[in-house]
Amino acid sequence: LRLNEHLAKLQNYQVEGVVGTDPGILRLGHSDELLNSYKTGVPKQLAESSGIQSQEDYSVWLMNVAWAHIKVAESALRGAPAVILGNGGHHAEYESGYGFGPINSLIITSKYMIQNSGIEKIAVLDLDVHYANGTHSLGKYNPSILPTDIYRNKLEKWQYTKNQENILHRQIENSDHYFEALEIILQKITGFNPDFIFYYLGMDVIETDRMGGIKGFDERALDKRDDLVAEFLNLHHYPTAISLGGGYINHAVNDDAVEAQYEAMVERFAMRILKLSPTGRIIRPNSTLSQLTTRT
Ligand SMILES: [Zn+2]
Repeated sequence: LRLNEHLAKLQNYQVEGVVGTDPGILRLGHSDELLNSYKTGVPKQLAESSGIQSQEDYSVWLMNVAWAHIKVAESALRGAPAVILGNGGHHAEYESGYGFGPINSLIITSKYMIQNSGIEKIAVLDLDVHYANGTHSLGKYNPSILPTDIYRNKLEKWQYTKNQENILHRQIENSDHYFEALEIILQKITGFNPDFIFYYLGMDVIETDRMGGIKGFDERALDKRDDLVAEFLNLHHYPTAISLGGGYINHAVNDDAVEAQYEAMVERFAMRILKLSPTGRIIRPNSTLSQLTTRT
């Protein structure tokens, strides 16, 4: 909401709300059992497997999130760069949500676009610091999709998918390793020659991030990373849509310090969005939810 407010003030951006039209779209990524739990709220453990509380209109909101991602992809393919103010859900697996991601919109959208938009190949460039267990496990059977990922953190309960022809992830420990891995990943994407790229823009690489953090990764490293990505995308003219990954502030400080961290985080996201897409559209899923209360 804060980022929406910030970007909406910029004249070169238009904000657009999306209402989904077909809940069946979610079956491109998830089991009926999981989707039913989102609809009915039971079993509660499954319905809240992502960490987001089940509530009224929850499944309507999820449908809107998925359709907003599709809208963003279609916009990018038409040459209008776009960003979605919503989470792509890279941790969501076929039978379970994880890590605040109830559905994997990146994969749902990729499959939908390949079936319906006439494009053949989609790459996911995931630069959130956490392992993209959902994207890899859902994407591995589809050679038209190339999930790529640089990560430091992986939880035991997340599925691990080995690297294969159409999966490339690299685990790294420090900032230097990160940039070596980035070069390898970008080369792989060039070789794949995608028709479209989802850039999963994560800020949780920053060393001080509460939930992530890479040794030696400061604001300058973040600038360098997104300069390299912007240069890469411009060089190859890949239509690109940006979906937002993680970025976690520390709440264990006084209110003013929390507020300052929120502002810095919004600025961090906004700066990179502007760098990657100086003009364009901001697309957000319509939501009737009062709040996205989480259990942790
Ligand atoms: Zn993350």
